[in-house]
Amino acid sequence: MFEQTAQIVANERAAGPYFRLVMRAPAIAPRVQPGQFVHVRVLPMKEALLRRPFSIFQVAGDTLSILFKTIGQGTEALARMGAGEELSLLGPLGHGFTLPRSDGEIPLLVAGGYGMAAMYLLAQRSPRKGIVFVGGRQRVDILCEPEFRALGWEVRVTTEDGSHGEKGLVTQALLAELRPHAAGRKLFACGPTPMLQAVGKIADEFNLPAELSLDEHMGCGLGVCLACVIPIKTSDGWEYQRTCSEGPVFDARDIAWEACL
Ligand SMILES: Cc1cc2nc3c(=O)[nH]c(=O)nc-3n(C[C@H](O)[C@H](O)[C@H](O)COP(=O)(O)OP(=O)(O)OC[C@H]3O[C@@H](n4cnc5c(N)ncnc54)[C@H](O)[C@@H]3O)c2cc1C
Repeated sequence: MFEQTAQIVANERAAGPYFRLVMRAPAIAPRVQPGQFVHVRVLPMKEALLRRPFSIFQVAGDTLSILFKTIGQGTEALARMGAGEELSLLGPLGHGFTLPRSDGEIPLLVAGGYGMAAMYLLAQRSPRKGIVFVGGRQRVDILCEPEFRALGWEVRVTTEDGSHGEKGLVTQALLAELRPHAAGRKLFACGPTPMLQAVGKIADEFNLPAELSLDEHMGCGLGVCLACVIPIKTSDGWEYQRTCSEGPVFDARDIAWEACL
């Protein structure tokens, strides 16, 4: 894990409230594993003590990029930044996805909204191609469809309002794929918690392995503040584990959803 000042190379609106921000981060970029994240201090926000976590979306040489949605003070300040300005990064952080094997299960990636950002490196580095299920409320929430197709992955799109792809939830498209033939598949997912819970349930129903990336509110990002803990099953019940360090990716079978408040 490194702390480094990263210079912004580009920061562009991808669609609606979503931005792609590319930074030069030579200490971090070459070490990134799919599913890991950076903890970003938005330097112009002097009043903000806490960093903001973002999945590492893409890596190219000594640059890395994030794909973020503007939802509050930090992300709005980030959206206003431009090339040449600096951010402080901690990373790469967290325990990411297991890379599929060329002779292993067929990977099915399930992403909701900006959850897609956690999936790109996994698809790019996976020796085995599969299907990406991308879901969102409306067309503007469907990110990276061309990028995944360019990697040679099949992409299935769903929107809740039917403005792009099939109308419905991303998990309905996943179910439609699995019902006739589920064996030999493995699920990887990132998105809102209800979507992850649903994917976990589907994995259970079809007896498939699944890795879920949890997007919990986070404080330090280093395993110290315990703000991001979630209940993980043990032999005699459950214990809290930290999303920032033991996660954000967990085996779906290990998550004690019933203990989540
Ligand atoms: C491991 C991890 C990876 C992430 N990757 C991405 C990513 O790739 N792209 C992206 O856009 N976002 C990502 N997030 C979420 C991102 O960190 C938050 O959106 C960001 O911190 C919000 O900062 P803010 O100052 O704009 O909002 P704030 O002003 O802090 O919050 C605005 C509102 O959003 C809520 N909120 C803040 N953080 C979260 C969260 N984590 N989950 C749900 N609600 C939240 C707050 O409660 C508040 O209601 C990730 C989070 C984690 C933990």
